[in-house]
Amino acid sequence: MSTEYDAGELHAAADQYVLTPMLRERRMIYTRGEGCRLWDAEGNEYLDAISGTNGVALVGHSNPRVADAVSAQFKQLSSHFLNTASPPQIELARRISETAPTGPSKTYLCPGGGEAVEAALKLAMRITGRGEVFSLHGGYHGTGFGGLGLLGLPLVREWFPGGIRWPTFQQAPSADPYRPSVGEGDDWRPAARGLEAAIDSGTYNNVAAVILELVQGPGGHVAFPPQYVQEVRRITASRGILLIVDEVQTGLARSGAMWCCEHYDVKPDIVTVGKAWGGGFPFGAVIADADLITPEIEADPWHILTFQNQPLQAAAALAVLDIVEDEGLVERCATIGRHATERFEEMAERYSVIGDVRGPGLFIGVDLVVDRETREPATEACKEALDYGLDIGLLTYFGGAGNVLKFKPPAVTSDEDIEAMLDRCEDVIAFVESRVEAGRTGARPDPLAAAT
Ligand code: PMP
Repeated sequence: MSTEYDAGELHAAADQYVLTPMLRERRMIYTRGEGCRLWDAEGNEYLDAISGTNGVALVGHSNPRVADAVSAQFKQLSSHFLNTASPPQIELARRISETAPTGPSKTYLCPGGGEAVEAALKLAMRITGRGEVFSLHGGYHGTGFGGLGLLGLPLVREWFPGGIRWPTFQQAPSADPYRPSVGEGDDWRPAARGLEAAIDSGTYNNVAAVILELVQGPGGHVAFPPQYVQEVRRITASRGILLIVDEVQTGLARSGAMWCCEHYDVKPDIVTVGKAWGGGFPFGAVIADADLITPEIEADPWHILTFQNQPLQAAAALAVLDIVEDEGLVERCATIGRHATERFEEMAERYSVIGDVRGPGLFIGVDLVVDRETREPATEACKEALDYGLDIGLLTYFGGAGNVLKFKPPAVTSDEDIEAMLDRCEDVIAFVESRVEAGRTGARPDPLAAAT
């Protein structure tokens, strides 16, 4: 296919001018996106099984309804002072309140998931008047200075010698059912008891919040048992500690429910979202239980961002919400997710490198291991497989220890394209298996793998 770009010139200019914080040996330059497809500067076509960065393109790349909504809003009113309001911002907050897992809510908008977490931390401190925060091993909540202090992924913390840690933030072991660090198998009780003991014995009795993902996406699709999360809710509620659920990846239809919280039957105090909500437009939000927001809390400043509560991000999210409703994407994620999970489970009968397949919905991680007994991650083989995927036109990534294949395509992908993506995933898995059999396994995870 001919292109309107000179790929060689673009790569040379990128080398010279673009500052990248996560350099990838094989740089990809994309020039066009539509639905579940991206095209690179060389004119090659890819099926995007990871929806941009981990779920952003839930409604597809360059969705025309989102493009029209943002464009119309831009012409009408593109920005305003940071503590003023506009109709789309108010309407979005109202729409969120109708279904929010917190119950009736108040919503703060910002440009990204990590920024939502930073704001949520300050809000929790303001509400409780306390300063300590717990997160979980394997957790990822963005890489702002607050987020880095919550990080449960040591490899990412090691990016800076000695790590960067907010002194009053600490992590506790989680109830990872596949690779438990405390207890055996899927017994979640030791992790819950550990968290409770850490709160009661290892703090200044000043804990504002516990923050967690229900399924740790970047940490390798670690799906917590509902009873564990319900117990964390009990532990926090009984001590007046807020529970912040980070739904930046799991939120908005992706899990086969509007909110992943629905699978867990848990009512958080604060929820953070991002990614898919903007349909590609930079988006994040803090959704707080309205009962917690007294007039005093809003009267005193607690956060400032130039791009907070702005009309463009609201217009984008309103369009995305309409698409999710009109096209039945919650149900669609559940349906495609069931089918994809079945196919991966069927592959597991033929490829011993598949250690585990984890959902929920269309939020799927396939844990690739060197040995099913030891569950040692097939990290090095997966590193090679990333480029192999590109060679066969599949965009994906490996999370956790760089060994958990991510399958989270746009929810608008046709059945035919889903099948083609799954076929290519199978090729990638066969490639990993061949590398593992050839003894190329490796231990040290790629430090870039878990981030995002
Ligand atoms: N929380 C979770 C659970 C995430 O997965 C991410 C991003 N991968 C973030 C927070 C940070 O979002 P952003 O990259 O938009 O800052």
